[in-house]
Amino acid sequence: MANARFETTFSFGRHKANCRVLCQACGHEIVVAPSAFYDVFPIPVTIKEAERRLRCTACGEKRARLIPMPMPMR
Ligand SMILES: [Zn+2]
Repeated sequence: MANARFETTFSFGRHKANCRVLCQACGHEIVVAPSAFYDVFPIPVTIKEAERRLRCTACGEKRARLIPMPMPMR
């Protein structure tokens, strides 16, 4: 898991990882489930591309940072 590679938005689903979406402009932060990416990006895009496209819901800037978060074990 530590060496899992996150290259596209579909990687989150494959690795069962939630994603922290952090706005580098205002610090607003949300956690999204992998399924949310399938809705926003039906075709996989690279993490870099997704970071460029996502707009902060708080301040409107496009300075997102995507950080993989492994789901807690149950
Ligand atoms: Zn923001």
